[in-house]
Amino acid sequence: TATSTARDTQVFDLIAKEKHRQESGIELIASENFVSPAVMEAAGSVLTNKYAEGLPGKRYYGGCEVVDQIEQIAIDRAKELFGASWVNVQPHSGAQANTAVFLACLQPGDTILGFNLSHGGHLTHGSPVNISGKYFRPTFYGVEQETGVINYDVVEETAKRERPKMLICGASAYSRDWDYVRLRAIADEIGALLLADVSHPAGLIAKGLLNDPLAHAHIVTTTTHKTLRGTRGGIIMMRNDFENPFGIKTPKGETRTMSSLLDSGVFPGTQGGPLEHIIAAKAIGFGEALSDDFYDYAVQVKANAQAMAKAFLGLGYQIISGGTDNHLMLIDLRSKGLTGKLAENTLIRADITINKNMVPFDDKSPMVTSGMRIGTAAMTTRGLKESDMEQIVVYIDKVLMNHDNESVLLTVKEEINEWMKAFPLYKS
Ligand code: PLP
Repeated sequence: TATSTARDTQVFDLIAKEKHRQESGIELIASENFVSPAVMEAAGSVLTNKYAEGLPGKRYYGGCEVVDQIEQIAIDRAKELFGASWVNVQPHSGAQANTAVFLACLQPGDTILGFNLSHGGHLTHGSPVNISGKYFRPTFYGVEQETGVINYDVVEETAKRERPKMLICGASAYSRDWDYVRLRAIADEIGALLLADVSHPAGLIAKGLLNDPLAHAHIVTTTTHKTLRGTRGGIIMMRNDFENPFGIKTPKGETRTMSSLLDSGVFPGTQGGPLEHIIAAKAIGFGEALSDDFYDYAVQVKANAQAMAKAFLGLGYQIISGGTDNHLMLIDLRSKGLTGKLAENTLIRADITINKNMVPFDDKSPMVTSGMRIGTAAMTTRGLKESDMEQIVVYIDKVLMNHDNESVLLTVKEEINEWMKAFPLYKS
């Protein structure tokens, strides 16, 4: 029966295997992190049984008294964490959050201007394979080839030429901070909305270690599971609510504030029932992120990224833009005669997980790529410090320089497995 305690060993054995994989290796995927046991407990709780379409106090289902309180805690904590006056905590993921924003703010065929996907932008900012590129007219700005950095004069020129309804900033593989003041000025000049998708650096932003997007962007979206170190999910935020600028009306012809449009963009626009177990896990994650400990964590994430970048540069690797302001870096492997695919496939054999990544102006396909993306959020959670980052870079270099030497790969793997025992992740 559904309440039977008989264990589905087929699946649970695999979960145990995955736990072992996470614990014994070095996790450098920039979008990943390790949540606390409390976050996992909430995500696996009875709240998964509850339907709660609508918002706290305004539901379409009965029995929501308890989940109303939980969702309100998540909203209040997110507001405090980011200095927002309005938050929707229901998006199931970062992609869902962005889709809800597009539905709320744009009409099919409207122009959007986002960061070039092959320069580190995200699929949901205008890729032809995503709804954002199929239902809207996507245009892009990118980094300069010589510097690897965004030239905001070019962004302005592009915006004036393309006249987007929405200017989007934020990325999956950009290691520099963003000039939100300039971007808002550009958006205002052409009457566009500015959306900042801070999915990657959200945890650093929450602790004041990077520029504040909420002070300037009309709307801010983020995932909750990267540097923010919460459960997988998304949220939408605004520091100040405002009248929608494009005269978008409800199906009944009413004019509504942006917050109300965004709420509708999530439900019923793009989702059904919210995942209240995940919202509880979000609330717990936000509570953790509000702590002073999390400030120390975020400072260490940045310090670790700096140490790692320095170590790579010291070994002759090329980092796009020459370094990092946040938790990640994008390494151009062409100077070492390697591809991203080879790096990813070789490093995994030594239990080092990274992902291959296009570099700006890449001459290889997305399945091969010339780059690897590396982030420090997950290993910082495990307790590793600057000197450990230097050791990781030594291992990475050893593996890449000996990619066809099976015994070197095996030795590094064994050393790493042994080393990681000193950084226990989860008790049982
Ligand atoms: N936006 C950015 C900038 C991202 O990096 C990501 C995830 O990689 C997303 C959105 C999508 O988030 P999710 O995978 O939760 O849908």
